[in-house]
Amino acid sequence: MKKNLFIVSALLLLIGCKNESKPLSTAQKTIEVQNEFAIIIHGGAGTILKKNLSDEKEAAYKAKLAEAIKVGHTILKNGGTSQEAVIKTIQVMEESPLFNAGKGAVFTHEETNELDASFMDGKTLNAGAVAGVTNVKSPIELAVKIMTDSDHVMLSGKGASIFAKEKGLEIVDPSYFYTERRFKSLQRIKDRAKTELDHDDKKAAFYDADIKNAKFGTVGCVALDKNGNIAAGTSTGGMTNKRWGRIGDAPIIGSGTYANNATCGVSSTGWGEYFIRSQVAYDISAQMEYQNKSLKEATKDVIQNKLTKLGGTGGVIALDKNGNMSFEFNTAGMYRASMNDKDELIVKIYKE
Ligand code: ASP
Repeated sequence: MKKNLFIVSALLLLIGCKNESKPLSTAQKTIEVQNEFAIIIHGGAGTILKKNLSDEKEAAYKAKLAEAIKVGHTILKNGGTSQEAVIKTIQVMEESPLFNAGKGAVFTHEETNELDASFMDGKTLNAGAVAGVTNVKSPIELAVKIMTDSDHVMLSGKGASIFAKEKGLEIVDPSYFYTERRFKSLQRIKDRAKTELDHDDKKAAFYDADIKNAKFGTVGCVALDKNGNIAAGTSTGGMTNKRWGRIGDAPIIGSGTYANNATCGVSSTGWGEYFIRSQVAYDISAQMEYQNKSLKEATKDVIQNKLTKLGGTGGVIALDKNGNMSFEFNTAGMYRASMNDKDELIVKIYKE
């Protein structure tokens, strides 16, 4: 009997020792990199190849990304909120014709610009979103207003414009969003469809190719402020040649945008239909919450494994509660930048 007891105790001791020497859990590992505050942005993912981008264009994108992120970084450094940092940073990109958000948004089949945006506050899990507005200068500002000043999470179309007007947001003539470059890309897609399609199979194939090769350009931002609050926002014109009031993932909380102080904040960009079906942004947070994964592990699994298997293309920027940051995409490139509490700035476009 005594002998048996001895064997059992020895076994228990062994198991105990094994547990003690277990490598750090992923949750513990994430604590290694810590930023008191941090900010990360994207300007869209897609077939962005060095050979297709002139040196001037590349420099212009990098300069605008740096300009935008510095605006948010300064706010955070001075003790401002992540909410303010996200709005102001995204507004710089909405006002730039380089990106598919605000001015420079892509055109719908009917040659209009229909804008989508969303915002989420990681502290309260409150959120606001807007789909299909045509005359509000800053859709991200409207998304936040919907969160703060209405009983709703998502408004769309004409109603959203009326709300924006009532709240004193800047209303513009729809022509404000026009850029020749985006108008020409719509015409190219339409012309190709007209000349090359004569039966339905081909039509489907070309529609697919157009979508896959579209140069995206949605913008997004995630920020962590000195109070530990995470905020995330996304703003877009959607996809060129969209019709029938199509709405992508950008205004869908859980797909295009998600933030939770307990885990992370995420903003997505890519082929929206797949991001909706995969619940990309929430899945990253859920993997961290329920599977104790690190931010890197969760973003990698969702983009490189789950989204890719489904056939979706695009990427995310994400930032966790400890200030760890992750860029993850399965396309040739993603316009992106990050800045930490040591003022270190990273600006990149292509895969590296
Ligand atoms: N996700 C956006 C949409 O599907 C497009 C993009 O990010 O480029 O509307």
